[in-house]
Amino acid sequence: MVREIAYDCDVLVIGGGIVGLSTAYAITRAAPGTRVTVLEKEAGPARHQTGRNSGVIHSGIYYRPGSLKARFAARGAAEMVKFCAEYDIAHAVTGKLIVATERDELPRLHALVQRGRENGIPVRELGAPQIEEYEPEVRGLAAIHVSTTGVCDYAAVARHLANASGALIRYGTKAAYIDRRPDLGVAVRTDDGTVVRARVLVNCAGLHCDGIARLAGDEPNMRIVPFRGEYYTLARPDLVRGLVYPVPDPAFPFLGVHLTRGIDGSVHVGPNAVPALAREGYDWRTVRPRELGSTLAWPGSWQIARRHWRYGTGELHRSLSKAAFTRAVRRLLPAITSDDLIPTPAGVRAQAVLRDGTLVDDFLIQEGPRTVHVLNAPSPAATASLPIGREVAQRALKALAAAA
Ligand SMILES: Cc1cc2nc3c(=O)[nH]c(=O)nc-3n(C[C@H](O)[C@H](O)[C@H](O)COP(=O)(O)OP(=O)(O)OC[C@H]3O[C@@H](n4cnc5c(N)ncnc54)[C@H](O)[C@@H]3O)c2cc1C
Repeated sequence: MVREIAYDCDVLVIGGGIVGLSTAYAITRAAPGTRVTVLEKEAGPARHQTGRNSGVIHSGIYYRPGSLKARFAARGAAEMVKFCAEYDIAHAVTGKLIVATERDELPRLHALVQRGRENGIPVRELGAPQIEEYEPEVRGLAAIHVSTTGVCDYAAVARHLANASGALIRYGTKAAYIDRRPDLGVAVRTDDGTVVRARVLVNCAGLHCDGIARLAGDEPNMRIVPFRGEYYTLARPDLVRGLVYPVPDPAFPFLGVHLTRGIDGSVHVGPNAVPALAREGYDWRTVRPRELGSTLAWPGSWQIARRHWRYGTGELHRSLSKAAFTRAVRRLLPAITSDDLIPTPAGVRAQAVLRDGTLVDDFLIQEGPRTVHVLNAPSPAATASLPIGREVAQRALKALAAAA
């Protein structure tokens, strides 16, 4: 006798950040009638990375041509601007300056111009006097201006994706156990004891995606190492008109203290990057021994510490000393004083790290039986969330068809 299984939904998405919600939205657009449920452990959407980022719509200038980041960022930026306009979400295309303040940064700045052109991004090269045309208070030896960069409210984008997706979204519901059987489907027990049965599971759990993959029985061969980015708000926002970035270090392209005028007119300064002592460790006081233990037990964490301790020491110093942070900002903005910097909430990045200490640079999506895991969705994943969502949705629908 064939046992009939009563599925609660066709696709179950774990994670109500921008990637999970964009995936739910894309599935219901591509295959109307597909029943999608999203489990989100918090009381609303976008409570972690999506609601605690710089709010920048990145142009895509930095990324290696051919990478998923390069493919999705430029397209995603244009789509994000359109989405915000369509749903009346606050956004602005402000452009951004990338400024070299030291001579040894000039070759890297020129390399970025090349990369921008390869990625089809409009860039304008500026000499020192021209920097003032855009940012009168910023100083540098040379700069490039990227006109397609912008800012928006990603938490509002996530809310609109949730509403427009037509998915059933269960907030305050944490996925606690997963039983996946290739012939039967996936059963997820939540922390309140209910069981949700689905044909296919999609893991968009951000800072917890490696744990969810393991609960599903897959070894992802990476671990999330959480890095906290600490910010200040500028007390004199008139010092900065738009977005001002340093030339990125190729080893840590997401680092380097920058200035971003957000959609509400306030200017964020930061972030630095320090190890977080919990996956959601938004300050030094938040320590979760089990999560910290799992980070320390991963050989890749020690490899990072061994290779990058010098860089890390600088970041720690800037975390603990406001004077050191101020000095770092002064390279770009000499008028700033430490009184101008007001502490503001931090964000934690979910950085996937391989066993040998490699920081996974590109987006990483892995498939298992009846399962799609999003294992690395760092910046610019908010910018690129619409194309990423479509990519994940396409893989989930393929798994759904295979399971039928
Ligand atoms: C400091 C900082 C600055 C950034 N700046 C930018 C920027 O300017 N522009 C840009 O494009 N990108 C930026 N990013 C990156 C961007 O924010 C992220 O790439 C993006 O938000 C990732 O979205 P996500 O949905 O994967 O993760 P998240 O937003 O973290 O969502 C994951 C969700 O899964 C939920 N979850 C986890 N475990 C469970 C469970 N067991 N059960 C149920 N739910 C669960 C969590 O509660 C969370 O809501 C920045 C990131 C940080 C941290």
